[in-house]
Amino acid sequence: AVKLAGVMKRFGNFAALSDVNLDIAAGEKVVICGPSGSGKSTLIRCINHIEQHDGGEISVNGIRLDRSAASVAKVRSVTGMVFQNFNLFPHMTVLENCTLAPRSTLKLSRAKAEAQAMELLSKVRIGDQARKYPGQLSGGQQQRAAIARSLCMQPKIMLFDEPTSALDPEMVKEVLETMKALAGEGMTMICVTHEMGFAREVADRVVFMDRGSIMEQGRPDAFFSNPHTDRARQFLSQII
Ligand code: ATP
Ligand code: MG
Repeated sequence: AVKLAGVMKRFGNFAALSDVNLDIAAGEKVVICGPSGSGKSTLIRCINHIEQHDGGEISVNGIRLDRSAASVAKVRSVTGMVFQNFNLFPHMTVLENCTLAPRSTLKLSRAKAEAQAMELLSKVRIGDQARKYPGQLSGGQQQRAAIARSLCMQPKIMLFDEPTSALDPEMVKEVLETMKALAGEGMTMICVTHEMGFAREVADRVVFMDRGSIMEQGRPDAFFSNPHTDRARQFLSQII
């Protein structure tokens, strides 16, 4: 479970997050949407401490982020993150990308780490790409490799920051299918995405942000058919 209470984040004098309160249960799928600059990335980056919040409280699976290295390490050990631009290590094969951290951090043997990586790469349907370098894969394959790499660390919560927005349209579907499959297995997921079809099908809840605040949230059908705020209505009219 993920809890944010009164979370603040400033960049200089600018409040990127102000008084954000959010409670996400184990197994819940939450889609975060909102206009550019509304604080979506900042919010999910605070959850695994890529950004440090400067007010309020964040706890992840009961671990409170208190600025100590130990709390950050514990939170990162239960969260996986997938970025817009894949962020695979370009000089390593897909398989090496997937075994590096499990070997060094989880202390898996090479054989175990490779078996796990092959299983997860097959699951995202790129088992046949394991020996290639990221540059030799399509965008959709690279993103699925990035998802598999993240899953190799055995996370309890997956954070996605616009995982399909750098992809050509024909590759969006295969990545969304991978994410749907993961959702079906009970993974807790927090996804920043503007893929509203995905939100309708997969999300338990849609959170709409504007100017650093959560403006409204609700079940996807309710949010899409009857948004409460003018901002959300305006936002939806632009993206659907
Ligand atoms: P987008 O849809 O464009 O990805 P977003 O909702 O993810 O937008 P954030 O990246 O969270 O928005 O940024 C929120 C605000 O904080 C923006 O105004 C941005 O300019 C500002 N911001 C983000 N990161 C930094 C930083 N490192 N330094 C200064 N300002 C920042
Ligand atoms: Mg962003």
